[in-house]
Amino acid sequence: MADSLQQFDLLIRNGQMVTAYGERRADIGVKDGKIVAIESDLGGEARRVIDAAGWLVLPGVIDPHTHMGIPIKDTTSADDFASGSEAAACGGVTTIFDFTVQEKGQSLKEALEVRLQKARDRCSVDYGIHVNVTDAPERWLEQIPELIAAGFRSFKVFSTYREAGMMVTWEQFRRILQQVHAHGGLLLLHAEDNALVESQTAANVNAGRLAPIYHARSRTAEAEAKAVKQAAEIAGELGARLYIVHLSSRAGLEAGLRAREQGVDILLETCPQYLLLDESKYRQPNGHYFITTPPLRTRDDAEALWQALRDGHIDTVGTDHCPFTRAQKESGSGKFHLTPNGLPGVETLLPLLYTYGVAEGRIALPRLVQVLAKRTAEIFGLTDRKGDIRVGADADLVIWNPNEETAIAAENLHGQADWSPYEGMRIAGRVEYTLLRGQVLVEQGEFVGERGKGELLRR
Ligand SMILES: [Zn+2]
Repeated sequence: MADSLQQFDLLIRNGQMVTAYGERRADIGVKDGKIVAIESDLGGEARRVIDAAGWLVLPGVIDPHTHMGIPIKDTTSADDFASGSEAAACGGVTTIFDFTVQEKGQSLKEALEVRLQKARDRCSVDYGIHVNVTDAPERWLEQIPELIAAGFRSFKVFSTYREAGMMVTWEQFRRILQQVHAHGGLLLLHAEDNALVESQTAANVNAGRLAPIYHARSRTAEAEAKAVKQAAEIAGELGARLYIVHLSSRAGLEAGLRAREQGVDILLETCPQYLLLDESKYRQPNGHYFITTPPLRTRDDAEALWQALRDGHIDTVGTDHCPFTRAQKESGSGKFHLTPNGLPGVETLLPLLYTYGVAEGRIALPRLVQVLAKRTAEIFGLTDRKGDIRVGADADLVIWNPNEETAIAAENLHGQADWSPYEGMRIAGRVEYTLLRGQVLVEQGEFVGERGKGELLRR
């Protein structure tokens, strides 16, 4: 009884509160998992007080793009929902969106049930699930309205990966987009022109050009731009909103922006690897570790993406978190077409974007919150609870200490990958606390919360 008489369960004092609109010094009171008070000087009793003087208090980060424990090239991405979500929390991420894996002949609903089973009681941050459509006969597409009504509003298709049985044709894309749009859902697209990718890949493989750099030469910026253009034309004809995942290139960006100028409702996501790394990584001795799709591009591509991020043209930053261990990366003997593709990233998202975005003056702090939380919550239908610091919202908060310089080291990260693409990179601060619905998940950078208490978010 005594506890429930306390005014707050938790009081965060003296922090610099940052939202998508600006920043100010404020005390934040939390009760029953919600933010219940924000004042410049809050009195009252609290079960626990965190003194955040000198620190930034941000909304918990929302990563719209992770792949926990998915099958790729005869292996499985190294983080499952348990380890991946713990890593997420340690990086200030309080909500992730993952994807179903639809087997051939499996309905969308069955694939979703399997995925939910893997996350349930395992995921330590809140989570949503995007429904992948890789097998698209009409009888499965008829399940889309029912899925949307049940709160699964986002779907994803690939315009490539024919060899893996995941591609939809443009005709199928049109039908799926129409169906998703008609029922109030959102379609996500992995945009690469498959014909270009297949012909360039075959040319390189047949000529014995198997070094990692040929991954980038096989899946070009041109292939991305061509697919973005094609998809945007169809979206424009249907008047349907379309979300492009992991945009990687200047050409792809320009195709997206051109469509937007023509009135197409197109949303753009990029990832830290396309902002911070470039294809010179493929020429390093461990270049094959960096094989991911789309491939790393040039410095010029990264510069275009930073500028678009700054100017508000890019809507969200996700990670495409899909880690493999060194041993898994070695399984393809360094050959680009046999190496499992994907990079770890969920834990380093905020540290990298804060350091190389905000601290280095490329984007403003409120803009960081916009692309890592607020806009993401709007797009995926979470604004009633997530993405902002306001009274009534979930107390999903990350407390960032900008005063301590650190560096990324795989041995200090919490996922299953035993390496990091960002090893040694300077970080202008560290996560002190991560709170999920008022519960302290992370303290001084270490996971201290109760495991597996993430909630499924239906929207
Ligand atoms: Zn992905």
